[in-house]
Amino acid sequence: MVWANLAPIGPRWDMPTADPSVASALLADFDASPSPYHAVATMKALLDAAGFALAHPGSGPVGRWYHVDGGALVAWVVGTDHHGASPLRLVGAHTDSPNLRIKPQPDRSGAGAARQLGVEVYGGVLLNSWLDRDLGLAGRVVIEGVDGPEEYLMRDDRALLRIPQLAIHLDGDIRQHGLNLNPQRHLSPVWGLGEGPTFAAYLAEQVGVEADSILAYDIMAYDLTPAALNGLGDEFLCTARIDNLLSCFLAVRALVEVADAPGAAIPMISLFDHEEVGSVSTTGAASPLVRQQIELVQAGLGATVVDAAVSRAASLVLSADGAHATHPNYADRHEPEHQVSLNGGPVLKINANQRYATDARSAGVFVRACRTADVPFQRFVNRTDLACGSTIGPATAAELGMAVVDAGCPQYAMHSARETAGSHDPAWFQIVLEQILRG
Ligand code: ZN
Repeated sequence: MVWANLAPIGPRWDMPTADPSVASALLADFDASPSPYHAVATMKALLDAAGFALAHPGSGPVGRWYHVDGGALVAWVVGTDHHGASPLRLVGAHTDSPNLRIKPQPDRSGAGAARQLGVEVYGGVLLNSWLDRDLGLAGRVVIEGVDGPEEYLMRDDRALLRIPQLAIHLDGDIRQHGLNLNPQRHLSPVWGLGEGPTFAAYLAEQVGVEADSILAYDIMAYDLTPAALNGLGDEFLCTARIDNLLSCFLAVRALVEVADAPGAAIPMISLFDHEEVGSVSTTGAASPLVRQQIELVQAGLGATVVDAAVSRAASLVLSADGAHATHPNYADRHEPEHQVSLNGGPVLKINANQRYATDARSAGVFVRACRTADVPFQRFVNRTDLACGSTIGPATAAELGMAVVDAGCPQYAMHSARETAGSHDPAWFQIVLEQILRG
């Protein structure tokens, strides 16, 4: 045996690398954000620490501000040089991710002593990815308070729920046709055996009130596996909700970075809820939420109607959302001339049918920002014979009348309970977001 020939092999990088510490710093934020409401609380804490304050009528206009509404957050910086006609540089993203949500009257049992909960499917869930996982519960609860309804964040980190897959011996079809899940019949988690509290009683105990004080809730299941860097050389960032909390957390960090010295444009971020179900809600991208904040900022700066029009014509939105990296086991599902690699840099997303809002003009700004910051980037288009996903980009473009470019970090397994991104792309994308926000 010639051991001498077995030279040790270290990590092999044949691509440029960014700073993976940016990705590892995000792990705790992912774990702290199992629901859109928790994500907003996580980001609000980051903004508070950076000197931002809750905007109220008459506050500002100069300073660092945010506005919070349920699962949505808007934040911006107005400098002393900004005026009514200053353009905006806006980074938009979404706080929600596909998941399983508890029905209003969830207590049920399919057979025997099993206590189960009824769940609704929120958004385009890869259903199989929720099987055989330890699941916790998180969300918000509205209770009867002294002066009217009060809202509480709720989170239970115990392994409470489990959706066991049917044994292979009992599933005659699985070898021939693969796993076939009916969302009504096959997704109810088990959470106990025999006698036990109703869901309402459980929730009341969690919040510390009587069961009849609970008026309503938005509660969802989430995977308890902590976020982590994976792979031989820590190449991968693996966690739930990469789509789209990765973009949200990077947008907040980028805004904090540019807050000390904003450019000619007013830097703003808008992190919406409900993208995964079409953006049409009071806190979605099709709502007046961000337009209203822009109008309030401009009113504070004394903008006329003409100033607002001048500002809008020179403004730009970057719609930040996950992009599909070319899957090595399914390379044929991707456009062969537009292969996208994890850790190959941020991805510019283009769709001729405007499922992404990018056009040549807005794409040009993105490409220039990458070149100026010396960041590698990639271009994505879908296979022409596959339907394309979408983002907040088109809704934001229609709502604001501003140029929009769609871009984001590449990832595998979009809409899985646990997704995979590259650990180097976040640092690069943050640099590009800063470049965009500086105007
Ligand atoms: Zn998304």
